[in-house]
Amino acid sequence: MNSNEELDKILSNVESWLTHQKELDVPIFISDSDDTVYQAELDTAVIDKRLNQIDENFVTAKSLTELDSIINNCMKCELGSKRKKFVFGVGNHFSEIVFVGEAPGRDEDEQGEPFVGRAGKLLNEMLKEIGLKREEVFICNILKCRPPGNRDPLPNEVEKCEPYLLKQLSLLKPKIIVALGRIAGNTLLKTSETLTNLRKEIYDYYGIPLVVTFHPAAILRNPHWKTPTLDDLKKAKKYLEEVTN
Ligand code: URA
Repeated sequence: MNSNEELDKILSNVESWLTHQKELDVPIFISDSDDTVYQAELDTAVIDKRLNQIDENFVTAKSLTELDSIINNCMKCELGSKRKKFVFGVGNHFSEIVFVGEAPGRDEDEQGEPFVGRAGKLLNEMLKEIGLKREEVFICNILKCRPPGNRDPLPNEVEKCEPYLLKQLSLLKPKIIVALGRIAGNTLLKTSETLTNLRKEIYDYYGIPLVVTFHPAAILRNPHWKTPTLDDLKKAKKYLEEVTN
């Protein structure tokens, strides 16, 4: 075995061990460069309180994989019978930053993965520009199934689907959320603000800081929005670095 293979094996063992610890709900402690130890867990008391009011079996899922297997046959709203694939979300189950879009589009519905079309490619490119890889972060949507013709999510669809997002966040415990687009921002925050206003602040979504920025599809139509989006992403990353250092 060469040294790269050995390193891969060690990393894979560490990842399995971390997954196991997390599934057992053991808090993970990380030592930083100053040798001080902090708990890499976010207090999810607010989310958990909301989830405790829901009497459904997905609430007790111990991992994202288990959650996916429980909910991916959901038929709670009419989008269930129209979908090709349920789009749970993708990425690093330990990510401290989570990107939340609106709902799957045609490509996502076909492939069962969020942000895989042209907007997704742009998202990957912007992540790279701020020093993040797609596989390092977690990406999902408010709705897990595609609305016909990519129309906006309806209130009853959000009502049925948002608890799944809350459970994802309760398991992920991210330190920051980035909402992609005005619709995602307003739907999560239950407001009807303009994107200009939404971009001005860092909000609190069930105890987790939330930044709102442009949707990548909007940037494809208006490329001059890419620079302010990169500024928002850098703001989120800086915030993350500040809270973890
Ligand atoms: N737009 C979204 O909001 N989500 C996707 O997954 C794809 C496009």
